[in-house]
Amino acid sequence: MYRVGLGSDRHRFGDSPPDGSPSGRLLVIGGVGIDSDRGVVAHSDGDVLLHALVDALLGAMGQGDIGDRFPDTDPAHDGADSRSFLTPVLTDLAAGGWSVVNVDATVSLQRPKLGPHKRAIAGNLARLLGLAPDAVNVKAKTGEKVGPVGRGDCLDADVVVLLMKGTP
Ligand code: MG
Repeated sequence: MYRVGLGSDRHRFGDSPPDGSPSGRLLVIGGVGIDSDRGVVAHSDGDVLLHALVDALLGAMGQGDIGDRFPDTDPAHDGADSRSFLTPVLTDLAAGGWSVVNVDATVSLQRPKLGPHKRAIAGNLARLLGLAPDAVNVKAKTGEKVGPVGRGDCLDADVVVLLMKGTP
């Protein structure tokens, strides 16, 4: 049996790094720190890609969304490393007999340019998910200087996952 899941997330840029940002690395995307002149506004480390991935996994399992599972009103999540949202969801996935077939993601960001980092980000996601490198794809887009992404107000992530239970 197969199930598909879709996840999206957006964080707006602010003047200060989010609570969980590692020092000197103001942007965390897919668990990879990227130098940026601005950080995002978030309760956690503001990792849009991991948040969208968690939503996609929860969606494929029919288990609601990241806000249900990890409320941003819970002070336990202030400054959280977003890998701490992924780990319990992967535990649920395995407990339900599911495995991830592949992940396809798009990150939309005007600056800094993500192109030089997308392979490292995809590789890190594959490692976090225990997948072969070619099972995770990360695409980078700009906002073409229009709309909230293009003006540099925010960055967006969109993720699709395919889950499998049993043998193909
Ligand atoms: Mg988020």
